[in-house]
Amino acid sequence: MKLLKKILKIVFALIGVLIIAILVIIGVDAQRTKYLNIDHFENGDINSYLITHVNVIPMTQDTVLTDKMVYIKDGTIETIADNINIDGVEVIDAKNKYLMPGLMDMHVHVWDRYELGLYLSNGVTTVRNVWGMPMHLRIKEDVNKDEMISPLFFTSGPKLTGPEFIGDDNLNLTTPEEARDKVISYKERGYDFVKTYYGLTPDLFNAVLEQAKISNVDIVAHPSQKIPYSYHFDPQLKSIEHTEEFVQQPLNYVLDTVKLKEIIDLYANAKYSAHCPTLVVYNNIYQMLMDDNILESESMQYMSPLIKKVDSKTQFDRWHNAKLEDSSVTERIKKQHDFHLYIIKKLHEANVRIICGTDAGIGVTTPGFSIHQELEFYKEAGLSNYEVLKTATVNAAKTHSIMNNMGTIEGGKLANLVLVGNNPLSDLSAMKHPSTVFVKGRKLDRKTLDSFEEKAKDRKNLLASGIRYAENLIIEK
Ligand SMILES: [Zn+2]
Repeated sequence: MKLLKKILKIVFALIGVLIIAILVIIGVDAQRTKYLNIDHFENGDINSYLITHVNVIPMTQDTVLTDKMVYIKDGTIETIADNINIDGVEVIDAKNKYLMPGLMDMHVHVWDRYELGLYLSNGVTTVRNVWGMPMHLRIKEDVNKDEMISPLFFTSGPKLTGPEFIGDDNLNLTTPEEARDKVISYKERGYDFVKTYYGLTPDLFNAVLEQAKISNVDIVAHPSQKIPYSYHFDPQLKSIEHTEEFVQQPLNYVLDTVKLKEIIDLYANAKYSAHCPTLVVYNNIYQMLMDDNILESESMQYMSPLIKKVDSKTQFDRWHNAKLEDSSVTERIKKQHDFHLYIIKKLHEANVRIICGTDAGIGVTTPGFSIHQELEFYKEAGLSNYEVLKTATVNAAKTHSIMNNMGTIEGGKLANLVLVGNNPLSDLSAMKHPSTVFVKGRKLDRKTLDSFEEKAKDRKNLLASGIRYAENLIIEK
């Protein structure tokens, strides 16, 4: 009895120490990202400005409105005109600069708050996180309450997949009832969309779809390989992810242009579903095969330490070993990437709405920085600069009704804007280092944006990220 008491005492003490340790680790990480709190940076509470002498790229058509004034009032674009007389607001002289809508990355995986600063520093003012966890609901709440400077933050719930085990990070559904209950509970908990994943069987997929219609919640689909690709063309499915999925499921790894045309025709007829390519994450396989030192590269310093430890290295080793076994793998991956460009060209020609997404946050695909590469690929596929920029602005904003108030520079739209030194309609790379970024009218200058990069560089928050990830496993299982 005495011994049992003693053991229990030790166990309770250990649990106590563990809980304290967890709280300290999470608390320290929260403290370190306080630089994003709105009351912590200069002029954090100001969201009204008058921008003068600026060249406006409204993104409503392929044009530049030269030498305009733009009045931002309380975070919203109020007026765009040749002359605006207004007192009591800070005037920003933007002579020779170009004002664009902020970019939207529609496929990201966020692991911590440092990454939000990296998106901003790259001109990304909206992200759609497609692997939801409880931590993302907390970020969303802080962003919506204007407590933290961040891109507008939208998140799906946890990925819904079938009973087959495909990694520990997915919610493995077994019955249609369970599928319906999850859709209802995710909506109640505040997730913006449902994310369907590749192992969903027809009965589970239909149950999710039915309930999503009843609950009026949009679906973002990573195509399921257990059902025909064409099953995904449904008005409830607002976007279908990953161009590489064409090659896998419907084409069965044969780069067959005739069969591809059949699917693209169906896609075009469906009209309601956008396509989110994530070309950069696939091309990064090729980059890993070509560069043995990619994990030590400078850009990797901006990746989450947790992802570097568990994902980037695993992916690198997998492809490195594949190359050692069969040297033709590099050429095969490159060929498939080129075929993805062809698919984008054909989708675009068929008037399928393409929305920019990167899959940033996993492997070696860096948050924020990778969007510029993604856009370059669309250009390489044959889109004009204007069409390319549409994918990350006006096209993206059309995807979900909750995003309709962004994506163009017009009166009444949210003041999510970037100021750049050159015309991105003639040179896409102009978008790379915006001199100023506005989110909901709050102004971030280049110095502040650079400091966000500096803070995120080589951060040491592996344990904090691990704890947040574990929280997800405990809550969802
Ligand atoms: Zn993804």
